[in-house]
Amino acid sequence: MSVGSTKVTLSFDNGPDPEVTPAVLDILQGRGVTAQFYVLGKQLGDPACRRLVERARDAGHVVGNHSFSHAVPLGQDPRPDAAEIEIAATEALLAPLVPGPRRFRPFGGGGVGRHLLSRRAVGYLVAHGYSCILWNSVPRDWIDPDGWSARALADCATRPHTLLVLHDTPDACLAGLPGFIDAARERGFELVCDVPPDCAPIVGGRIVAELDAIVAVD
Ligand SMILES: [Zn+2]
Repeated sequence: MSVGSTKVTLSFDNGPDPEVTPAVLDILQGRGVTAQFYVLGKQLGDPACRRLVERARDAGHVVGNHSFSHAVPLGQDPRPDAAEIEIAATEALLAPLVPGPRRFRPFGGGGVGRHLLSRRAVGYLVAHGYSCILWNSVPRDWIDPDGWSARALADCATRPHTLLVLHDTPDACLAGLPGFIDAARERGFELVCDVPPDCAPIVGGRIVAELDAIVAVD
């Protein structure tokens, strides 16, 4: 693998945040980068946050659904209607702002595992035409706001296309973001906005990969 073929897609989870997201959008705009944002329904009651979704949309970023409350991973949520509550309630707020393909990113503390989804959640995503968007690199910016960038650069060099999970929330990726983008480009990495195929097990409501590793046993 040559370094020149290394692609990196940035994604920002758990926002919008009225303080942090504008700064992230400014950095991306200043460097000509488009990225993906996976937002929480509970944030979208705030008009300022809804305007940030619109700003991201208008700048060409992808905006998707990351649950309403972000409290219990869907594969561990005891509520029988958790998928409907978490996914649909967010979609009701998001769809008027971001029409077009539906994208859902499950959450689970960074780790990919059977806690991410329930069978019922998979059924919901399929029935409603969602793509399910995972990730393949979590540099843990929320634990190490100063050091995540070096770790992420090293990790991006290990695969042809990295979908990086960052967070547009306080005390997470912001401080290291400009330096990360600049260093990635210096290394010849290409910053893109698409999803590596191995990070999208459901595409437009169609299951395209084995899901056992990310779906809880009923
Ligand atoms: Zn999250």
